[in-house]
Amino acid sequence: MKMPVYFDNHATTPLDPRVLEAMMPYFTSQFGNAASRNHAFGWQAEEAVEKGRKQIADLIGASSKEIVFTSGATESNNLAIKGVAEMYAEKGNHIITAATEHKAILDTCKHLEKQGCKITYLQLEADGLLDLEKLKAAITDKTILISVMYANNEIGVIQPIREIGKIAKEKGILFHTDAVQAVGKIPVNVIADNIDLLSLSGHKIYGPKGVGALYVRRKGPRVQLSSQMDGGGHERGMRSGTLNVPGIVGLGEACAIAQREMPEESKRMAAMRDRLKVLLEAELDETFINGSMEHRLPNNLNMSFAYVEGESLLMGINDVAVSSGSACTSATLEPSYVLKALGIGDDLAHTSIRFGLGRFNTEEEVDFVAGRLISVVKKLRELSPLYEMAKEGIDLSKVEWAAH
Ligand SMILES: *Cc1c(COP(=O)(O)O)cnc(C)c1O
Repeated sequence: MKMPVYFDNHATTPLDPRVLEAMMPYFTSQFGNAASRNHAFGWQAEEAVEKGRKQIADLIGASSKEIVFTSGATESNNLAIKGVAEMYAEKGNHIITAATEHKAILDTCKHLEKQGCKITYLQLEADGLLDLEKLKAAITDKTILISVMYANNEIGVIQPIREIGKIAKEKGILFHTDAVQAVGKIPVNVIADNIDLLSLSGHKIYGPKGVGALYVRRKGPRVQLSSQMDGGGHERGMRSGTLNVPGIVGLGEACAIAQREMPEESKRMAAMRDRLKVLLEAELDETFINGSMEHRLPNNLNMSFAYVEGESLLMGINDVAVSSGSACTSATLEPSYVLKALGIGDDLAHTSIRFGLGRFNTEEEVDFVAGRLISVVKKLRELSPLYEMAKEGIDLSKVEWAAH
């Protein structure tokens, strides 16, 4: 077993060696500019780009012409939201999104708010799912875009995307989804799911960092975007800039592998994830699953361990790479805004751990991580007077603490 154990595959994934192999020639002998029309170097590069485009389109049920290459999902999200807001400004200025979106969505929306857009940030239910009635109620005659992520990067909860897309379609509103965590992990189909714009990223699916794509629907409706990067008119004028040929080849290969291996891989992920959950719950009481278990990515588990201190917990498992529900912003420890939006209290949010399993994890690693957590949580609880009191049946919410 390689140490430390990597269980943080929602943050990034290692490059699949098969992806690296596909990319290598485009760093060396086949270095052409895909926009060079006059010689073989350019033609080769263009051919490689078009192959990658097709591999990406195939994975999400799109056509090649609907794929716009970007530097990653942050840029895809910016292009989708700002591009629609500018292009459709005459139609309206209202956008609906959710409070648990990735910062690349929330910060883009905040930026647009300063420019006069109205944004509705929908709150979610306690299980992390969006209530479709609340969505319908938020729509006005000025709504031009709904943007809801396919699956959440912290709690792995999968939204009712098809139904959201249907509502948007019926109202003539464009529908964008940040599908970074879903693409390549679960079946995603832009036609069946009624999606008009979709963001994806290479480095979350065992591809390279710094490359991503935006799917832009071409018919029913034909979506238009105001470009955010000008110069040269690449990518149908929507995103200028010399294409990252090795990155695109890698992203394409990553998509092709994901498509081929998804049925087997998702079963393996779910089995390992469930094993981790069973092992932890068998030995530890007072644990809580954050978000719906039923509507969840196969590779995600997000669990809180009551009566331990978050920082001590993380320090105790320093040979395991995971994320916690606390984000160090400057000097203070802020609980995750995603967990907060679900109504989870600060105490439980601070002791939450996000386990993100990936293609290269093994059952042996699952057993190691479970064992590590069990021993650390037990040790910390032995030192916790609160845990002891709770076990003695004292209702901690009714205790009056003496002030010092
Ligand atoms: C990682 C991530 C992003 C950002 O993608 P980059 O390619 O790193 O810019 C956006 N949304 C979600 C849900 C993510 O997990």
